[in-house]
Parts: sequence; C-alpha cells; structure tokens
Amino acid sequence: MGVIVAKFGGTSLANAVQFRKVYRIIMEDPRRQYVVVSAPGKCHSGDTKITDLLYACHKKASLGEEFGEVFEAIAQRFRDIIRDLNLDLDVEPLLKEIRERIAAGASADYVASRGEYLNAIIMAKFLGYDFVDAADIIFFDERGMFDSERTNEAVARCLSRHERAVIPGFYGSMPNGEIKTFPRGGSDITGAIIARGVNAEVYENWTDVSGFLMADPRIVENPKPIRKITYRELRELAYMGASVLHEDSIFPVKKAGIPVHIKNTNAPEEPGTLIVNEAEPVTCTGAITGVAGKKGFTVIAIEKTFMHVELGFGRRLLSILESNGISFEHMPSGIDTISLVIADSQLDGKLEKVIEEIKEQLQPDSVEVHSNMALIATVGRGMAHTPGIAAKLFTALGNEGINVRMIDQGSSEINIIVGVENEDMERAVRAIYYAFVDNCK
Ligand code: ASP
Repeated sequence: MGVIVAKFGGTSLANAVQFRKVYRIIMEDPRRQYVVVSAPGKCHSGDTKITDLLYACHKKASLGEEFGEVFEAIAQRFRDIIRDLNLDLDVEPLLKEIRERIAAGASADYVASRGEYLNAIIMAKFLGYDFVDAADIIFFDERGMFDSERTNEAVARCLSRHERAVIPGFYGSMPNGEIKTFPRGGSDITGAIIARGVNAEVYENWTDVSGFLMADPRIVENPKPIRKITYRELRELAYMGASVLHEDSIFPVKKAGIPVHIKNTNAPEEPGTLIVNEAEPVTCTGAITGVAGKKGFTVIAIEKTFMHVELGFGRRLLSILESNGISFEHMPSGIDTISLVIADSQLDGKLEKVIEEIKEQLQPDSVEVHSNMALIATVGRGMAHTPGIAAKLFTALGNEGINVRMIDQGSSEINIIVGVENEDMERAVRAIYYAFVDNCK
C-alpha cells in the first residue's frame, strides 16, 4: 500500500469546524499516514492569521512593548479549538513556556513557528496520530540554507518508526538547535520534504480552492478546472501570475517525481488538480492546458539590414542591458530584426539611456519602442506536434480585431506567447480560451 502525505493550509485549520473536515478526509483513506499542518489561518476575511499575530507579538516584545493582549488572542484561538473538539489536552503549560520565551527575547523565527507547533500537537491528539516535531527532522546548515540530504535521511529514519504522524509545517532547526522558518507559506515546502522522505505515492496539498483553473476567473466566466498539469506547464503559467501554490515550494517532490494533488478541504469530492512530471497530451480541451496574461511590458524593436551576419550584434545588445542592470523576458528575432521584451519595472527611468546606447553602439536602421504591452501565454503539452494550433489562436485574435505586436514560441512547443496592448489583454485571453475550450467535444 502506498503512502500519502497530506498537507493542510491555514484556512483548512482555522477552527474546530475545519478540523472536523480534515478528520473526515484523513479517516477516509488509510494511506494518509503523514499529515503536515499550517498554523490556523483566517476564520473570515476580516480575521488575522495566527502567524501574523505571532510576528506582531515578537515585534512588540522586541520593542519592549506590552504583548500580553496579542498573545491572549492567540492563546484563545487554540483554547477554543481544543474546547470545541472536546479534546483532553492541556496546552496551558505550552502556552506559558512560549509566552516566557517571547518575554525573554526569543527570535522571530521561533515565535512565528509556534502556530504550526501547537496546531500539530492538537491535530495529532485529535487524529490519534503521533506528534513528530519538525525541529528534529528538518535541518538547515550554518549559513541558514536548507540541508536537503541530511533532512531526507532524518525524515526517512524517524518516520519509519512512526506509522502515523502529524508534523508541523514551516520550520526546522539550525545546527545549534535554534528554530529557523522557511519563507512565508513554507508549510508547502515541509509537506514536499516529508513526501520525498517517506517516498510517498502522492503529496496531497489541501487548500480552499479546487486546484487550478484554465484561466483567471476574473477574466473568463466560470473557467474549466485543470485536472492534470505537468511541472513544466505549471512553471509557464505560474510565471504569468496564475498561482495557487508557489512552484518553488514543491522542489523536493518535483525532483523525486512524486505527483502533487491540489485538493479543496471544503469540497473534497471535487477532483482537484494533479501535478505530474509527464502526462498524456490534453485532447478534450483542444490541446491547451491553460491561458494566462500579464500586463506591464515594453518592447524595444530593433532593425538593421544584415544584422544576421553581423558578428556579435546580439551579444553587444544584451551587454547594454546587462550594464544597465536590466533583465529581459523574451527576445524574438527575425532575419534583420530583433525585439526585446522587458518588464516595465525593470526599465523604470532607464529607457532613454538604453535607447541612446543601442543607437550609439549598434548603429541600427531603426529602434522602435512599444509600451503598454501585455503578454499572454497559451500553454499546453498537447500543443507540441499538433498542427493548426497557431492558426486557431491567431484566427481567434484576428476575429476579435486584436492587434498582435509580438509572437514567441519556445522551442519546447508547450507555449505560445503573444504581446498585445495592455487594454486588449482581457479580450485576448477570452478569445483564446473560447477558441480552444468551446471546441471541446
Ligand atoms: N503559517 C505560515 C504562514 O502564514 C506558513 C504556512 O502557512 O505555510 O506563512
């Protein structure tokens, strides 16, 4: 029987009602042997996450201010959960110790980590699972870098002795035993580390949405969910801003080839999204997996006859960017043309200087600047080797009267990027989405 590691985010654990949902989910499948928890999140939109309250406590304490009131609010959230679940668990000694350590000047990382720590103790008691402290199995080195191999061995060794356990997310320990946290949202990383360590069949990431959608629901009404996506496609879409899960946070399982299943704690019957290394091409959505757009780019289009035979032209162009500290996003080129697509935030106040240097050093026939551009990425593993995709995409944009300023297709053929005016972005995303999805039979 394979093992499942199930990680639950803050909204999935905000109060006793949510804890009960988690209980049902865990009990439904005996393979869910290892559970990773975040700290309690917001109960409602005006609420504050426990982690934020803990950081606030630490800040007050470090400024010598009174932190008792904030700490009481935190303590009460945990007491309420324990009471509402009728658990026979006395957290008062733990709360007292944490409070004393805050008063004695404990580090921000230690203080912030206590939300996950307490929540894991409560969840372990509720499920009847063992509690395993992340500080004993997740390690950072002297420089504060995550020590993946030492951690992996420790996780494998320790959890082989616990058939079922709850592990707090978000933190580990330094060689001197001090607590160190991952970046915010880091419980996702902990879940992935545990999944790799126990060689899980799947890493389930339980959150408050049913996975990824094919397009931003603020742009496309009721977009279809993505059932399956590869890590590479996810990277393309995440780069354009589509996010549910930060793709960097799942590196341990990506490396190990363990699939990640995004599921909704509030709607566990929905299929969610499965992230895998390799997958069969999508067919039912006419070959695309998703479409995403991002505004705020500038295109610098350079033309020079015989550019293609001028040795070092590209290198000199890019060194102008480099010496100005600018990175570029895309560089589509033709025989005598080359365009640079750059995020506006990179160019900030530097555009004129860059243009001057290009003119001076490269002597082009013309340099044109198109600002207010949006990029739209149409992503799909099914696009590779499927004729007619580009035709369909450009026909859709043409029918909408949208002017395409730039086209770039990565050699992997899993995406086509087009540049349009900022103001056309939403219309373009909708046109592409419906061109592919409505054809789905
Ligand atoms: N509780 C931490 C945060 O709010 C970590 C997490 O939930 O993943 O960032």
